[in-house]
Amino acid sequence: MSLRKSSGNAPGLKRPWPLPPRRPRPEAVFLSPVRRVDRVATEERVCAVVFYDGPCRLPANPDRFRGKALTLVLAEMLERCGAKGTFCVVGDTSGNYPDRPGRRGDPAWSGAAYDHCPAIRMDDQGGAVHCPDLIARLLAGGHELANHSYSHRPFGPIPGRRGLSGLEAAVADLRKLQGVLEQGWGYPMSLASPPRGAEHIRGGFNAYDAYALMGYQYLGSSFDGGGRRTQSGRGAEAEAGWRTMERLLLADPDAFRGQIISLRDGFNAAGRTPAADCLERQLRLLTDHGYQVVTVSELLRRAPFRDVLPESPAGKDARRLLGEGWCPVYQDNTLRPGAPLTRGELAMMAFGREIAHRRVALIRSGRAPFRDVAPRHPYAAAAVLAVESGAMTAEGGRFRPEAAVTEAELRLFCTVRLGRELPPENWEAVTHGQFLRLAASLPE
Ligand SMILES: [Zn+2]
Repeated sequence: MSLRKSSGNAPGLKRPWPLPPRRPRPEAVFLSPVRRVDRVATEERVCAVVFYDGPCRLPANPDRFRGKALTLVLAEMLERCGAKGTFCVVGDTSGNYPDRPGRRGDPAWSGAAYDHCPAIRMDDQGGAVHCPDLIARLLAGGHELANHSYSHRPFGPIPGRRGLSGLEAAVADLRKLQGVLEQGWGYPMSLASPPRGAEHIRGGFNAYDAYALMGYQYLGSSFDGGGRRTQSGRGAEAEAGWRTMERLLLADPDAFRGQIISLRDGFNAAGRTPAADCLERQLRLLTDHGYQVVTVSELLRRAPFRDVLPESPAGKDARRLLGEGWCPVYQDNTLRPGAPLTRGELAMMAFGREIAHRRVALIRSGRAPFRDVAPRHPYAAAAVLAVESGAMTAEGGRFRPEAAVTEAELRLFCTVRLGRELPPENWEAVTHGQFLRLAASLPE
């Protein structure tokens, strides 16, 4: 490639080409009852491994385990290393027809229109419905189960896939799998991850709304353990799984503290099962470096937040407030204790855990609750409750959700919502950390 082509101007254009990178606009992030958990801040060498798309009764490919079910192979590897896994399971994909096979190596490899776990026309070899023995085995081994939806249909439209029709359908699909595990094993799930990572739901909703209605937290991950991307062959795939991990651990033995590693309890687009080839080595690397591999729920119990250590003042306050029904965490699982507290956030902190249904109704009504708050605003429903309760006011029909909380507003909130006087302190520029300390200092 010539120098001119790579760095010069395209003909007829005055601006240099390629364009200089634009500074990315900071993405707005909101307090939320549903937190997406990718990794957590901890000083312990502790991490978690998540397996998607199982359970799978078919053997690994290539099969080095004499026909043993893939899920069982993975569970036994975990157990040999004293590790516990989180299995993000599906219910049953046998309703995903008519369909025809996708092309090997394509994103749509498992079916031209739908996904099939573990493979097209082999739906009865996977999913909780067809593999009760594997579900029972996972639970007996102390592993965790998370909701990857019943049918593995995306919550909304994504290119090339048949998605679900809207919020009701998404919630119904989640409930169906939850029902299978509750009726079969009395097992309550608390974590979920959307099929194909597709968050958008028709009608102005998203995965956070579906999970808020279900009472779930959003299970993410921070490190691709190598189960997804196809490489030139089996050896390359297995190596991709542990080489990067080895390199990172050699450079910094603490690199995996609080991380969530993702793998697939199923086949990749090339029809292989890299997790079966690399998991043992990954677990050995981690345990050799002093890591404990625990379920995601255990990880969250030890270290709930992304940006703040559990034993720090803000971490302690927020843990207590979470236990008391407050909503102190952003949807990316951060606390941001130094950030200024806005009016919308104050309303959300206090009422965010009660608004899931109200928010749905508000969006469906299409009516703005305040002159300056659209029905879809993430804090719209909390603002309505805050004003209804008398803890906050909306002068002239405006709520001003982005305005910083003033001392007078905090005083009113304290009297009405917390039933006590605002203690003497400098409340001129209230931060999240300051508010957490105030709310957590109250007697239960
Ligand atoms: Zn999946």
